[in-house]
Amino acid sequence: MAATKEIPFCPLISAGQTYPQVCLQEECAWYMKPYKTCGVYLLAHDAALDIKSKQQKG
Ligand code: SF4
Repeated sequence: MAATKEIPFCPLISAGQTYPQVCLQEECAWYMKPYKTCGVYLLAHDAALDIKSKQQKG
């Protein structure tokens, strides 16, 4: 059986929806083609790391 590539749910377009909506990928302005990933996820990941490092300092 061929492996299917999983498309992640989008936190932005899923907001307020009854069912989670999948990522629009190349149709979305946030999609970063060179990385094949979502720019929002990258920002959220960086922000999470930033918070973590601040908490560890405090
Ligand atoms: S690339 Fe766009 S559609 Fe896909 S998860 Fe990110 S914000 Fe949502």
